[in-house]
Amino acid sequence: METKRVYTFGNGKAEGKADLRNLLGGKGANLAEMNLIGVPVPPGFTITTDVCNEYFRIGKDQVVELLRPEVEQALKHVEILMNSKFGDPENPLLVSVRSGARASMPGMMDTILNLGLNDEVLEGIIRKTGNERFAWDSYRRFVQMYGDVVLGLKPTSKEDIDPFEKIIEDVKHEAGVHLDSELSVAHLKDLVKRFKAAVKEETGQDFPTSPEEQLWGAIMAVFNSWMNERAILYRRMEGIPAEWGTAVNVQAMVFGNMGENSATGVCFSRDAANGEKLFNGEYLINAQGEDVVAGIRTPQQITKIGSQRWAERAGISEAERADKYPSMEEAMPEIYKQLDEIQHNLEMHYRDMQDMEYTVQEGKLWFLQTRNGKRTGKAMVKIAMDLMREGLITEKEALKRIDPNKLDELLHPVFDHTSLLSAHLLTKGLPASPGAASGQIVFFSDDAAEQHAGGKNVVLVRIETSPEDLAGMSAAEGILTARGGMTSHAAVVARGMGKCCVSGAGSLLIDYKKRTVEIDGKLLHEGDFISIDGSTGKVYEGSVETRAAEMDNDFRELMELTDKYAKLKVRTNADTPHDAAIARGFGAVGIGLCRTEHMFFEGEKIRAMREMILSENAEGRVKALDKILPFQEKDFKGIFRAMDGYPVTVRLLDPPLHEFVPHDEKGQEEMAQAMGVSVHTIRQRVESLCEHNPMLGHRGCRLGNTYPEITEMQTRAILGACLELQAEGVKCLPEIMVPLTGILYEFQAQETVIRETAEKLFKERGASVDFKVGTMIEIPRAALTADRIASSAEFFSFGTNDLTQMTFGYSRDDIASFLPVYLDKKILKVDPFQVLDQNGVGKLVRMATDAGRSTRPDLKCGICGEHGGEPSSVKFCHRIGLNYVSCSPFRVPIARLAAAQAVLEEEK
Ligand code: PEP
Ligand code: MG
Repeated sequence: METKRVYTFGNGKAEGKADLRNLLGGKGANLAEMNLIGVPVPPGFTITTDVCNEYFRIGKDQVVELLRPEVEQALKHVEILMNSKFGDPENPLLVSVRSGARASMPGMMDTILNLGLNDEVLEGIIRKTGNERFAWDSYRRFVQMYGDVVLGLKPTSKEDIDPFEKIIEDVKHEAGVHLDSELSVAHLKDLVKRFKAAVKEETGQDFPTSPEEQLWGAIMAVFNSWMNERAILYRRMEGIPAEWGTAVNVQAMVFGNMGENSATGVCFSRDAANGEKLFNGEYLINAQGEDVVAGIRTPQQITKIGSQRWAERAGISEAERADKYPSMEEAMPEIYKQLDEIQHNLEMHYRDMQDMEYTVQEGKLWFLQTRNGKRTGKAMVKIAMDLMREGLITEKEALKRIDPNKLDELLHPVFDHTSLLSAHLLTKGLPASPGAASGQIVFFSDDAAEQHAGGKNVVLVRIETSPEDLAGMSAAEGILTARGGMTSHAAVVARGMGKCCVSGAGSLLIDYKKRTVEIDGKLLHEGDFISIDGSTGKVYEGSVETRAAEMDNDFRELMELTDKYAKLKVRTNADTPHDAAIARGFGAVGIGLCRTEHMFFEGEKIRAMREMILSENAEGRVKALDKILPFQEKDFKGIFRAMDGYPVTVRLLDPPLHEFVPHDEKGQEEMAQAMGVSVHTIRQRVESLCEHNPMLGHRGCRLGNTYPEITEMQTRAILGACLELQAEGVKCLPEIMVPLTGILYEFQAQETVIRETAEKLFKERGASVDFKVGTMIEIPRAALTADRIASSAEFFSFGTNDLTQMTFGYSRDDIASFLPVYLDKKILKVDPFQVLDQNGVGKLVRMATDAGRSTRPDLKCGICGEHGGEPSSVKFCHRIGLNYVSCSPFRVPIARLAAAQAVLEEEK
């Protein structure tokens, strides 16, 4: 059989169909499919991807020879259906030429519109449309597109200027206008003339006037674009084989500006903002797409109800609306009926909300495009749940339709879209904790707390934060720091609180003494308003309106659905009863990491802690720790009560002690007074404790091993709290976790202290509670010797923040200084502190899990680093057989969804 190289479509018929995607490319297959389901699409034809390969094998001349008969025939088919003729000045047909590979490759290859134009055809278009300006505008666009794409005038490097753009700038300058839309017909004519002269100068050839020549030139250019540098690079990155090739789609152009019975517009089968099942969209009579974008005329609503809602918002009376701004439903009822029927059919066919472009040419409706519509997080959930309830998609499909990252929009406040349009962007940092916040600048934690208590909204702006800033962070609407990465203190704590945070905004110059911050030359003072978006890292000047989080029944139903499929459990990182309660509300089934250091800061506790730090010997430390014990016990009771019946992993003290002492003069003076010692003594002690990033000194289990009395006190507090609660009928499942283990003996030494203390405590109280002793795996050596460590440790929790830090050798607090360059140069694809590095760090996690279980088959393994709430990392944890992930409370829903999706992806 002869090879078929060209597939036509149009008038409800098509030689191709959706499942010929490999041969026709995504676009070609879709155009064919739309025809087959009765959507009026401008007719055209698709040259197959196989021809692209043939082109590279046998060259242009032979391919043209092979293709010519089929292309000519296909063109005739289009001419008949459009009742016009390619290249005929009396009744011209214009076409578009577009690439279309099997996989979507956005922006990789170019499109040529209005092909078939020359000076004579132009006259025909003017006669046909009665619109001279439109005709010339189409012509100049065509010459530019063709010149750039086919004739190679488009610059290949960023530094070079597109000669056409330069001419446009010159003509606008001469005309004294700013916008293209302000150019007159005479200017547009001048542009075409100058464009053609530029072509002659650059190529030595005249701009091709023969439509046939133009068409073949465009077809070959699309094939060539498959091998351009951009495309090769994109394919390499996405793993797309070169043999796939691209198809070429040639399609009739249609015009919505051919009089009062022509129109153009866009429409959506459901509301993309809130998900409501309401057909909506806009149209403009006697216009083309550009007019809608240029904003010269205000498009009108297509449905009557949409139009009425619009008028109500604009304060326009119903009589005036119906007269001046009628909906399409009222103004073009026949067309509207067709549009409504087709949008309904398209949604039923694709089983998702459709975003459609259409044009009405002299009373005939054409669909130019349909695709699954972009939507807000709220609309995403509502539409998926509605489609499921309507029986259009299954439960599993509904789950797969949800982008876990977009759930954030439902869980945190976001900026109001309209307010954001007028906001002035100051700088960009790392999107450390999602949400949006607006408030007055404060630089110190105590000021934040004070001003918040006085009813003000504040944003805490710091070079970096430390546990000392906890109260201020909690009082602030959001936190902005100049230093620190995605796992810096500010980022981790803010995420735990569900508070918006932008970290590592390197262009911030903060002067604590003057209480000012300079951002790229703009000086802001304490009390000035600032707004930050923790989902994008953007920082805005002034106040920007926010919209509250919007969790509703659809969201709750979605969450219930995740439990039906997920295998991986989701715990939370929480260290207050309040956070624990929030996490339970979101469906967490335990605490995977309770960082005890945050419990040492409030009131009396920090005093006793500092007393311990100043003590010269164990005796002094024990005395100070005895004061802390009742507070710790009380804190633990709150947490275990909130987690009644669920396991709680409490990590023993981890951070270096210098985090508990003041570093500023004022703080040191206050501490000296409180402790009854000289400021000099305090300063000396602070200096001796000082460590620099990355903190790899006196922290983790090294603290507990050098000062075992700390471990003793914490063990007493944890188990003591459980004994009391148990007597009240609360079910406690404590898991005591040793941080930063690197050597088996380090762990064993701590385990001995814990078990001996427990035994003593149980004897004293005449009661006992079951508990486990396990470890964090966050040092590469621990991962490499996991089989040995599992001989003593009863569970593993991977601290992937530190494990990433130590595997890459990147300080987690200093990565912001080089990360943007690394991302820009594609040395790193993503921030490894945000998305788990599956090839390196992930490999250690997998190896350690397997090795640990080879010693202790029932070893419970989870992760508690920030990756525990990141969808791709959660899915990886499922695949390697971890038992749970643990993440900050507000990420629990995201992790639950990702865990369910991981199971469904496996089914594929
Ligand atoms: C970790 O290192 O991954 C971890 C959870 O501990 P932290 O962030 O407190 O160091
Ligand atoms: Mg750690």
